[in-house]
Amino acid sequence: MTTRYAACSCEQLRLVVEGDPVRVSICHCLACQRRTGSVFGVQARFDVEQVRTEGRYSEYVRVSDEGETRIFHFCPECGATVFYKIPSAPELIAVPVGAFADPAFPVPVRSVWESRRHPWLELPEDVENES
Ligand SMILES: [Zn+2]
Ligand SMILES: [Zn+2]
Repeated sequence: MTTRYAACSCEQLRLVVEGDPVRVSICHCLACQRRTGSVFGVQARFDVEQVRTEGRYSEYVRVSDEGETRIFHFCPECGATVFYKIPSAPELIAVPVGAFADPAFPVPVRSVWESRRHPWLELPEDVENES
């Protein structure tokens, strides 16, 4: 089984992840743009049992326009979000793919909030779209 490691910028907060993600997706929503500081977010969902956390974290709860809650867990030292939880799916944990710093990470299979996509951004044709 593949073991992967995710970390914040200062590596105080780390994750040890066993096995492949349940799903990898891209989100173009404005909240993801704000959270990441990039123009889209890419996140991998895992079963909570695949993930072990090491180090200290703080939490920030964000409620989306649709009323969905996300609980972001970030490093109190450097501020990078290393994982987040979705209360409506407590069996899952989402990890921003960039936290793995691994260009060989499994590719996204799905793209959501296409209506907020920056027009210059092109995705591979086999990525499933969902506006
Ligand atoms: Zn840190
Ligand atoms: Zn989003």
